[in-house]
Amino acid sequence: MQTDVIIIGAGASGLMCAIEAGKRGRSVLVLEQGGKPARKILVSGGGLCNFSNRIMGPEHFLSQNRDFVTSALSRFTPSDFVFMLEEHGIEYHEREEGRLFCNDSASRVADMLLSECYRAGAGFEFNCAVSAIKKSDSFTVETDKGIFKSKSLVIATGGLSYPQLGAGGLGYLAAKQFAMKVTKLLPALTPIKFSPEDARVFSSLSGVSIRCALSQGATSFTDNLLFTHTGISGPAVLQISSYWDRKSSLSIDLLPGVDIYSALTGNKSSKVLLSTLLNRYLPKRFVKLWCDLHCAPKPMNRYSTQEIAAICRGLHDWVLRPGGAEGFNKAEVTLGGVDTVDLSSKTMESRKVPGLYFVGEVTDVTGRLGGYNLHWAWASGHAAGQFV
Ligand SMILES: Cc1cc2nc3c(=O)[nH]c(=O)nc-3n(C[C@H](O)[C@H](O)[C@H](O)COP(=O)(O)OP(=O)(O)OC[C@H]3O[C@@H](n4cnc5c(N)ncnc54)[C@H](O)[C@@H]3O)c2cc1C
Repeated sequence: MQTDVIIIGAGASGLMCAIEAGKRGRSVLVLEQGGKPARKILVSGGGLCNFSNRIMGPEHFLSQNRDFVTSALSRFTPSDFVFMLEEHGIEYHEREEGRLFCNDSASRVADMLLSECYRAGAGFEFNCAVSAIKKSDSFTVETDKGIFKSKSLVIATGGLSYPQLGAGGLGYLAAKQFAMKVTKLLPALTPIKFSPEDARVFSSLSGVSIRCALSQGATSFTDNLLFTHTGISGPAVLQISSYWDRKSSLSIDLLPGVDIYSALTGNKSSKVLLSTLLNRYLPKRFVKLWCDLHCAPKPMNRYSTQEIAAICRGLHDWVLRPGGAEGFNKAEVTLGGVDTVDLSSKTMESRKVPGLYFVGEVTDVTGRLGGYNLHWAWASGHAAGQFV
């Protein structure tokens, strides 16, 4: 079977590319190894799909060449995706830091993309595992459902995270097969594990959430941190995981913006317990453990100013030496990918292999938490869709 375009992967970027190419009158076939499309979209944003972000720029992405995203982002903006949603009567809302979510269910986004694909005339083969890609005048894609040929081939296979939802390494292998570079691949937006010693101490805090500022070097995120049985998770942790070098310790300000020194020294003549004061600012379970570990059980009037200062330093700069990061099974995205030096930022086409395109998470573009990864999938899929 011969088409103008074959797209491997019916995820966010592949579906957007299929819509745009189909609208231009190209014959499009999407090959998907799973039984249904858009599986990551369905679980995204806790089931509400954080589909984009009102505040969008290269500074929200990690890549060896961060400016690579500028061209595609300028041609497909958050408003463009919102316009699609509104055309389909899908309601959405904005949360903190410009994060855009659906009101009822991520499945509305998946259904919208699929119906737009069908309207644009795109065809699908599901449960179709690709075994080989060959290139002569056109591309030949060998699968367990037969051999397919096309003039353009789009690799939209995503990253390595969540293999249970279809992630695999085909996209990276395809790039290497055609002598394109792939940067180092790491789990990102992932929980961080305690060292074995800290796990013994802090696992009892599982379920406790604290708003904190979590930093490594100059990079810092202020958001919630959630204790788990094995380590720390929550938005602040997922964000810093993409930047963490896996060797350095992390600094946690447990009371960002709070002048806890003034609050405590203001009670220096009081008989109130330190833990009673800290309970006003931090969850009780955390305060109990923290005081057991770091503070003598005595009233405020028996603490010296130096002792109070030391306690405050500890609360503003808890130095945590993690045991590692969780792997691809728990990471929302993959850091790294097909090196952008080998891709056109305008078209997503390989500079080495005419007709071969890479879109979405398979590229060396990783968004911060907050709708940036899905927006990159839409924008890069849209860009390639204009040229395939
Ligand atoms: C739990 C979770 C929650 C997330 N929440 C958000 C969120 O709220 N907002 C946000 O911006 N990002 C979120 N992300 C990240 C976002 O979902 C991805 O970055 C985005 O889906 C990437 O799109 P993609 O098209 O590149 O890849 P995917 O959406 O992963 O699609 C790739 C497709 O290719 C198929 N495929 C792979 N290999 C082959 C092969 N060999 N043959 C055929 N098909 C193949 C896969 O089955 C899959 O369907 C989340 C990720 C996870 C895991």
